[in-house]
Order: sequence, then C-alpha cells, then structure tokens
Amino acid sequence: MFDQLRLLVRLQAMDKTLFDLGQERDVIPGRLADLTQAEQALHSKLEAQQLQLDQVQKRRADLEEIADNVRARLRRAENRLMGSKSTKEYQAANAEIDDGKDSLKDTDNQLLEVMEQVEALEKKVGELTARHDELVAASKEERAQLEERYHNTDSEISRMIGNREELAGQVDKDLMKEYDFIRQARDGVALAAVSEGTCTVCHMTIPPQQFNELQRMDKIMSCPSCRRLIYWAEAEQLKEVL
Ligand SMILES: [Zn+2]
Repeated sequence: MFDQLRLLVRLQAMDKTLFDLGQERDVIPGRLADLTQAEQALHSKLEAQQLQLDQVQKRRADLEEIADNVRARLRRAENRLMGSKSTKEYQAANAEIDDGKDSLKDTDNQLLEVMEQVEALEKKVGELTARHDELVAASKEERAQLEERYHNTDSEISRMIGNREELAGQVDKDLMKEYDFIRQARDGVALAAVSEGTCTVCHMTIPPQQFNELQRMDKIMSCPSCRRLIYWAEAEQLKEVL
C-alpha cells in the first residue's frame, strides 16, 4: 500500500503541474483574440476619420470649383461693364458684379471653414495612423510570443500526459479509478496532505484516532470531510517524493 501511496503523491504533483500548464495554455487564445479586437477597433476608428477627411476634402474641391466659376463670371461681367453701351447694360453688369462679389465672399468663408476642418482631420488621421502602426507592431511581437508559448506549453502537456499514463499504469486499477473519480469531482485535486493532524486542502482536523491510523501508512484513507485520499505529510518515507 505504501508504494501505491508514493505513486499517488507523484501522480498528484504531475496532475497539479498539468492543470497549471493547461490553464496557462488555455488563456492564450483569449489574449490573441483581445489583440485582434484592439487592432480592429483602432482600425475602424482610423477608417471612419479617413472617410470624414475624404468627404471634407471633396467639399473643399467643390467649393474651389464654385469659386473659380464665380471668378470667371465676374471677369465676364467686368468686360461687359467696360463695353456697355447703355445705362441698362451698365446697370445689369454692375448688378452681376455685386452679386458675384457677394457670392465669392460667401464661398471663401465656407472654404476657410472647410480648410480648418481638413487641417484638424489630417492631424487626427496622422495621430491615429501612428498609434495604429505602433499597436500593430507591438501586437505582432506579442502575438509571436504568445503563439510560441502556446506551442511550448502544448508540447510540454503532451509530453507530461505520456509520463502520467506511464505512472498511472503502475497504480492499482481500482485505486486509480477512485483517484480519477475524486479528481474530477473535487476541482482536480484527489489527494490531500495531512499536516499536523489537519487536511491541507479542506483545512478540517482529522479525528485523532484516524490520524494515528494514517501515520501507520498501511492503507489508503480518505479525509472524513472532503473525501479526498489523504497521506501523512510529515512521513519520513515520503520525503523523497514530496
Ligand atoms: Zn479534506
């Protein structure tokens, strides 16, 4: 029985490591997804600002075209004014010039406003592009590290599962069944050390009579409280595997 107990202690240590490695590996896909999400969010933001900038630049081009047309109209009206042969023609050309000047003033004011918007948006797009490029570069590096860690952890787990199977093969079949059953029912921990008369997993005191029996180590016992298999933590004979 004592040999069996020693095997279980080693198995328990292996299962603990396997559990920890599994957790380390299994959080990685989530972190990779977070990286992608952060990149996509910034990318969408950048695209939205770029679209806004494109629209404002289009509006600036439209206004510049309008201003050019007004100026051409003004030049024609001025020519007509110079060559006017009647008061009527003169007045008509003069009215068109006044109208054209008003229109040009209005267009220029709008242009000024739009140019300010273009400037502000260009600045924003520039900042976002820099932030985006920085994030992409940092993500790329972090992604590579995470993928490497995933791969390494996964290989280590595969290797350890092989070792565990080998070890489990040496444990008595019924005992192994019990161990695995408890492990699944009790958060992955089937074996508990009892130190100074207390179960170190559930922290309940083992009745003195049972603790005495446990110290004899001639049978596999269970914690009366958490039902895990227990062993005496201070046993000299277990020192080498603990
Ligand atoms: Zn317990």
